[in-house]
Amino acid sequence: MTEYQAYLKNYDGEPVRLMEVCGTHTAEISHSGIASVLSPNIRLISGPGCPVCVTVTSYIDRLVALSLEPNHVVVSFGDLLRVKGSSQSLNDAKALGGQVRMVYSPMDVLKLADAEPEQIFVFAAVGFETTTPVYALLLEEAQKTGIQNIRLLTSLKTMPPVIDWVCANQGGIDGFLAPGHVSVITGSSMFEPLAQTYSIPFAVSGFEPQQILLSIYALVRRRGKGDVMNLYPSAVTAEGNKAAQRVVNQYFESCDAAWRGMGVIAESGMCLRAEYAEFDAGSMNLTDDRSANPNCRCAKVLTGAISPHECPLFGSQCTPQIPQGACMVSTEGSCYQYYVNHRK
Ligand code: SF4
Repeated sequence: MTEYQAYLKNYDGEPVRLMEVCGTHTAEISHSGIASVLSPNIRLISGPGCPVCVTVTSYIDRLVALSLEPNHVVVSFGDLLRVKGSSQSLNDAKALGGQVRMVYSPMDVLKLADAEPEQIFVFAAVGFETTTPVYALLLEEAQKTGIQNIRLLTSLKTMPPVIDWVCANQGGIDGFLAPGHVSVITGSSMFEPLAQTYSIPFAVSGFEPQQILLSIYALVRRRGKGDVMNLYPSAVTAEGNKAAQRVVNQYFESCDAAWRGMGVIAESGMCLRAEYAEFDAGSMNLTDDRSANPNCRCAKVLTGAISPHECPLFGSQCTPQIPQGACMVSTEGSCYQYYVNHRK
């Protein structure tokens, strides 16, 4: 056992609450059983880091409606297909004759659109700073190759405003495990204003269990200090990936965005710039986040107000086989990860 592992196991100071805001961290923490090697005084909480989970109901409804329109095909990653809108998921729409296709990369839509020029292909552009550059590259490639039948329905989010929301409205967080993939694009310096405003440390972390444990150790030791610590220097720099930032800024601009459980947060999204409005499939004003199951507590789980176990449906009426909310559908969702890995 290393010195920092022993410290984390035997820590008997003030209770510490640390939040991870990355679906991949949530999955790795759950899968590796990290919580079980920590002192009971160190509590890990999942935050709004799963892009599918934070996507609001009316966005799904819009995708469902588009899939049922003549000459429209909705293209999406697999996770999103099972998330219900107010009454139907994209899989339900497909069963009713809607045109829905699953892909593994947004770039796959180029081939589809080229092969069927009579159809409009609408990509469900969901994600954080990590995936937005890929959507920008998709549009760049569509323009270069003259493919005109691709549209995006955007629900793109950015991390700092939602962390700000959590600090201002939820409180009680002593440190953030900052998302490694997002930081590759944005740079670790993005978290500095938040760290200073709230005097909360941020540790940019890799995804191996040892990297996560080291980040937790750093956060506990720096509690109360507004530090940003880049503990993933093999992939993350202070300023991030300038080329990716450039292509994003060419096609997208900051806009208000709706988050499940948090409502509309100012300047927390990325929308297509006006000059690229021709690519937009009607992304504005999709703000309703009422769950299909009124007893689903995803909204509270996503903000760290409760843990998945505290939802009365968890593990009984809601499992990955019969999910009642987005947090149990996505493999990055807290409920899914807590359930399949028996995380306490
Ligand atoms: S356990 Fe299911 S119903 Fe409960 S909050 Fe999670 S997704 Fe929603």
